[in-house]
Amino acid sequence: CGIVGYIGAKDSKEILLNGLEKLEYRGYDSAGIYVLKKAEEGYLFKEKGRMAALREKVDDSVKATAGIGHTRWATHGAPSVRNAHPHQSVSERFTIVHNGVIENYQEIKDAYLSDVEQKSDTDTEIIVQLISWFVESEDLETIDAFKKAIVALEGSYAIALMDNQNPDVIYAAKNKSPLLLGKGDGFNVICSDAMAMIKETNQFVELMDKEIATVTRESLIIEDFTGEKIKRAPYTAEIDS
Ligand code: GLU
Repeated sequence: CGIVGYIGAKDSKEILLNGLEKLEYRGYDSAGIYVLKKAEEGYLFKEKGRMAALREKVDDSVKATAGIGHTRWATHGAPSVRNAHPHQSVSERFTIVHNGVIENYQEIKDAYLSDVEQKSDTDTEIIVQLISWFVESEDLETIDAFKKAIVALEGSYAIALMDNQNPDVIYAAKNKSPLLLGKGDGFNVICSDAMAMIKETNQFVELMDKEIATVTRESLIIEDFTGEKIKRAPYTAEIDS
């Protein structure tokens, strides 16, 4: 149960896989990564069991400079490739990773998603389907659909979201599950624990409950649900890399 994200200039899959290996101590039953090379060219890899098995599955020739990754500790739905994260909207435009438990997932499913094909047995999948639903049905921008979906959620979450129409941004949000943003020179990262990304940077900004972050190569923007921007200075993490 850990999250990583990277957006920069390097081969993201290597950084994501290394980061997930650093989170192995938290325990997990499956793992996956999604990397986005350019608009509409995303690659999804997931596997049950050990990180070594995921490494085997990843196509080494795929080089993309942005991506997200996840180690799963199943709470809803058996440990399997089908239920491993990242999860995608039916359109495959939106991809998310999530740690935590969505307590009202059934209510959300009944209210909005009764006509949407379910691709997994997780509580997580409704988040990405709901974002997609808001974008398509209400013609919202991704950030606004993300905010609207987040406001509807009850429970605990650390989430990273990618939109395949925009390879230059990763969105993140959290409530009662840890999430850090890491600052670099020409890149930025996301992680549940600084240990996962200490090789890349030691400058971290903590995301607080009910905050949303927009992460690009050059900037980290944090705001609350009302759109109020939040300024928070990074701290230096003291961990040996
Ligand atoms: N509740 C989600 C699931 O079962 C996320 C679990 C986790 O935090 O790894 O897929």
